Amino acid sequence: MRIAVYPGSFDPITLGHLNIIERASAMVDELYVGVLTNQAKRPLFTAKERVEMIEESAARLSNVTVRTFDGLTIDFARNCKAQYIVRGLRAITDFEYELQLAQTNRIMAPEIDTMFLTTELKYAYLSSSTVKEVASFGGEIGYFLTPQVARRVYEKYPEAVNRKEAKEASHEQN
Ligand code: ADP
Repeated sequence: MRIAVYPGSFDPITLGHLNIIERASAMVDELYVGVLTNQAKRPLFTAKERVEMIEESAARLSNVTVRTFDGLTIDFARNCKAQYIVRGLRAITDFEYELQLAQTNRIMAPEIDTMFLTTELKYAYLSSSTVKEVASFGGEIGYFLTPQVARRVYEKYPEAVNRKEAKEASHEQN
């Protein structure tokens, strides 16, 4: 059995994450998406909400399971009996940080390898934090998220959504 974990904050899951999940799940028998519950990052969504959004988005992928975890990724990988850690690479800016993580993990757990998947170009500049920033100013986030996830993000910024709707209504009148 080839088993992989894909760890991250997923606050919230974007189409870039989903693309990595789809491609990684086609390469292994089981893929465990690990939602980091570390509160120090002050996430917008609770771990439960983040798990639900990933489950909804990846519902048609039968070999994908979503779990929460805290602590070291290698311990999560060992708990899942995984041989691989999947990470997504967007731009060169991701590279140094990811390389450092992968090298550290290799020293601590030489039996587990890190697999990097390069993002599809259209998602190369997409991050959960950008999406939250755009939403907080009432911008359009439908290009970056599934409709269900976009709805949940807007629910977190009701005032920004009111402003967005007012702007759209005044555009229609003109
Ligand atoms: P973390 O807090 O670990 O950075 P993220 O949820 O931001 O967690 O990302 C998890 C993984 O997904 C990381 O490997 C990250 O590089 C990758 N990733 C994030 N956004 C994208 C994207 N748009 N395309 C491809 N990979 C991505």
